[in-house]
Amino acid sequence: LKDELQIEQEVKRTLQAHALRSTPVRRGVLELISKRGEALASSDFEEATRADRITVYRTLRTFESSGILHRVQDSTGVDKYALCGNACSAAGHHHTHAHFHCTTCSKTSCLKEVSIISQVLPEGYQIHESQLTYTGICSACS
Ligand SMILES: [Zn+2]
Ligand SMILES: [Zn+2]
Ligand SMILES: [Zn+2]
Repeated sequence: LKDELQIEQEVKRTLQAHALRSTPVRRGVLELISKRGEALASSDFEEATRADRITVYRTLRTFESSGILHRVQDSTGVDKYALCGNACSAAGHHHTHAHFHCTTCSKTSCLKEVSIISQVLPEGYQIHESQLTYTGICSACS
């Protein structure tokens, strides 16, 4: 696990790289997600930053449109957010990895090494977003 100082520096760099002002809530959201290393729901960020729902919602939207976080859908029906890699920016998200939701520890995480194979769609269809989330038991629980 990364230490606190390392995470603080990383968060600072991320905000700078995306030309985002550093605010306590923005730092809090990124620090939590870096520490936990899994996809988190807005309620997790509200709890950790003690910010209200609207502020957290706006922060998550900003990070999503900046290419810092991506939204993950799992079988809980609650949207979660996970960290993006360097390939994502305000110009767009570039990842095709699958996600995994563990029914034992209820953690949802990125399977960075598992690629969603692109499907050939009928003519006239355009993909803007795709989601593939497996549900099962993760390596830590099995
Ligand atoms: Zn992304
Ligand atoms: Zn698990
Ligand atoms: Zn992911």
